[in-house]
Amino acid sequence: MPAESVDAIVMNGERGEQRSYTLATEDRPYRRLVERMSEGAALVGADGLIVYANDRLASLFGVPLERLLGGPFSDWLDEPERASFIEQVVAGRSGHSEHTARRLDGTAMPVLVGMSAPEESSGSLRSLIVTDLSQQKAQQQQVHRLNVKLTDQLAELQRINSDLEEAERLLTHQTLHDPLTGLPNRTLFLDRLEQSLAATPRTGDPVTVFFIDLDAFKQVNDTLGHTAGDRLLQEVAERLSAVVGPNDTVARSAGDEFFVLTVGPISGLPVALPDRLLGALHQPALRVGDVTVTASIGLAVSYEGVAPEQLLREADAAMYHAKRAGGARWERFGLRLRDEMRHRRTAELQLRKALAGGGVRVLYQRVVDLADGRPVGAEALVRLRRSHGGLRRSHGSLLSPTKFIPTAEESGLVLPLGQQVLERACEQPLRWEHTSGHPWYVSVNVSPRQLAEADLVAEVSAALAAAALPADQLRLEITESALLNVSPRVLTILNELRALGIRIGVDDFGTGYASMAYVRHLPLDFIKIDQSFVFGMDHDVHDLAMVEATLTLSHRLGLESVAEGIETEAQWHQLRDLGCDAGQGFLFARPTSSRLVCAEQPAVGTSGR
Ligand code: C2E
Ligand code: MG
Ligand code: MG
Repeated sequence: MPAESVDAIVMNGERGEQRSYTLATEDRPYRRLVERMSEGAALVGADGLIVYANDRLASLFGVPLERLLGGPFSDWLDEPERASFIEQVVAGRSGHSEHTARRLDGTAMPVLVGMSAPEESSGSLRSLIVTDLSQQKAQQQQVHRLNVKLTDQLAELQRINSDLEEAERLLTHQTLHDPLTGLPNRTLFLDRLEQSLAATPRTGDPVTVFFIDLDAFKQVNDTLGHTAGDRLLQEVAERLSAVVGPNDTVARSAGDEFFVLTVGPISGLPVALPDRLLGALHQPALRVGDVTVTASIGLAVSYEGVAPEQLLREADAAMYHAKRAGGARWERFGLRLRDEMRHRRTAELQLRKALAGGGVRVLYQRVVDLADGRPVGAEALVRLRRSHGGLRRSHGSLLSPTKFIPTAEESGLVLPLGQQVLERACEQPLRWEHTSGHPWYVSVNVSPRQLAEADLVAEVSAALAAAALPADQLRLEITESALLNVSPRVLTILNELRALGIRIGVDDFGTGYASMAYVRHLPLDFIKIDQSFVFGMDHDVHDLAMVEATLTLSHRLGLESVAEGIETEAQWHQLRDLGCDAGQGFLFARPTSSRLVCAEQPAVGTSGR
């Protein structure tokens, strides 16, 4: 725009002719202002043609000012927006609107166009203020982009957070539940039991705990594998859960032990529930392969002041009782069991004391060759010294193994006990040999738990080495019931023991109510006929038949036969005539101290019973 005097502006008329307007005196300062504005400014007529524009507008559109003047302002807008703009100009509506302007070079530029309505004084001209929004838009876009990014990051954070919460929830669940069955575990069960017991003084509702244990689970695991065992446990979990009430808790403690907790009056649910639980596990029968699994259930009802662990122990004791009575039944903890538990605790204490304080004695009972009565070995039979009575040297003050071996077995104390007996027994045969001038063997009883849990091969090797005893002078007797369902692990142990040169035999043969066929598959050297058959042999045909069958079997399998409990000459001769190889019994010798084993006459009155 040519420089004019500040009091007039020259504008292009509608037909291109130049017209000059004289500015009112009071408007003059504003013109300067308009010339210096950072926004583009223009005046357009009602027809939309630009009659005035400032330099800034020209530079915004990238054109010389002359090119702007006289042309329609709308030409500088994007095609689709022109119509509405023109309409606004024609209408003379004041207001702001955003548009996309096109520069001369074709580039787009967002603009804000502010229009003020025409005034008489300005000859109906509309003034336009054009603001370049490029920078603002770019900033807005950046803010938008940042916003999007932030939203994304926020969502990611929320995801991480909820993942964390889920992980935490899972962890809590895992620490309180059994992964195999999904049931609450022992910790959660005890927690619920504690809460229920805490509520009893207020509610008056007794709490009943059930201790459920499968009767042949070990057999399933050992013979059919862990997968079969796992499936069985899942089935048990489902069956138990199906018969309890909605407020009862079914939990899996460990192995094949399940707990149930119920709150309610004793005359109601808890009485019916044991039958329901047992029924759920027995009908239809739980079968895995060809093994039918039953369950033993013990229950205990709360009383004032009982601790959760105590109640559980009582239910456990009742379960154990049910198991000992043959399994597949339920038993309630009562006064009788409380007494039994007390006895067992006393026996256990006595056993611990004996083990620690030299209270374990080992007596030996001769085994003779039935052909001539000549001693060939002796069986080691353990005793406990009674801690009271002071008759320490008398055998009469010794406690019989039938009184403490079950407790030792239950408590696991049979492991250290068995080891002590083994070590001491191994020291004897060479002494007897030295005294008598001929070789002896010693026969040691091994409990089922030793077989399953002790490192028997290592213990036996160590005992033999310590006593410098040749392996063929040691025998191990394993009671029949422990050999009925032998796991692959136990079979390996038996084979390894025999590989050492030790003889292995089955004790109390015939008492396990099993078919005799199982012995064929075991690495055995001798069979011991149980004394009950020897006692009955001369008056009970079944006992005699049993003895005869056992002797036939052992001959067929090439096993040595040993009879125990021989008390009369008649029994001796009968057994000898039936082909029994060796025997022991009060007729030949009672269990006695090692020193007296190879004396010519066994000491009278040294009763082992
Ligand atoms: P068992 O191995 O069958 O031992 C034979 C039992 O019959 C012994 O009883 C013995 O004293 C008794 N006996 C021997 N001859 C006669 C007889 O002519 N008449 C009568 N009435 N009884 C006779 P004991 O010593 O009381 O042992 C009982 C059971 O305790 C043993 O039966 C054995 O199973 C177990 N036992 C003994 N010592 C040990 C041991 O060190 N470890 C383990 N795990 N068990 C042992
Ligand atoms: Mg024995
Ligand atoms: Mg026996």
